[in-house]
Amino acid sequence: DNSATDSKDLRAKLVLLGDSGVGKSCIVLRFVRGQFDPTSKVTVGASFLSQTLALEDSTIVKFEIWDTAGQERYAALAPLYYRGAAAAVVVYDITSPESFKKAQYWVKELQKHGNPDIIMVLVGNKADLHENRHVSSQDAQEYAEKNNMVFIETSAKTADNINQVFEVNIFPLIKTGV
Ligand code: GDP
Ligand code: MG
Repeated sequence: DNSATDSKDLRAKLVLLGDSGVGKSCIVLRFVRGQFDPTSKVTVGASFLSQTLALEDSTIVKFEIWDTAGQERYAALAPLYYRGAAAAVVVYDITSPESFKKAQYWVKELQKHGNPDIIMVLVGNKADLHENRHVSSQDAQEYAEKNNMVFIETSAKTADNINQVFEVNIFPLIKTGV
């Protein structure tokens, strides 16, 4: 039966926030399509992808993944994307202390204006560039703990920890939250 009105079907909105160039679009592409495209285009405004998953209890959840643009000129639009979001993935680039600061700005913004129950994950991306690391894992871990967030370092390039972000730290929590 493919009835679209199955009452067990759920929807959850998930948003990615972070500075331009940290790899948000590549993370989404890696997770949803299993690909990495080094020539990927800059996101304008925001783009949207959906991923439908069957949870263990066979509940179907349609995840609406909003990939936002980090540019200043779109900052005023951000509330449209994180409003009503069940989860936020706040991304920085481990080679860029500036992007880590920007991530902290987004965390504060979500704490002030987001859904109070929002699941927040702090992601340090481009972990494959560890030789050029400028944000220590320990600093990020401490910051995440203080702010009740899970912290993970990922690489969209090598796929390292990408599934963990969603499948370990977001989807199971959303399931129990409904
Ligand atoms: P966004 O602006 O946050 O969406 O960033 P993009 O996903 O467009 O990525 C920006 C740039 O970083 C692109 O040139 C990507 O190829 C590169 N990039 C993204 N993720 C990684 C990663 O994990 N490792 C490396 N080395 N480069 C990455
Ligand atoms: Mg993008």
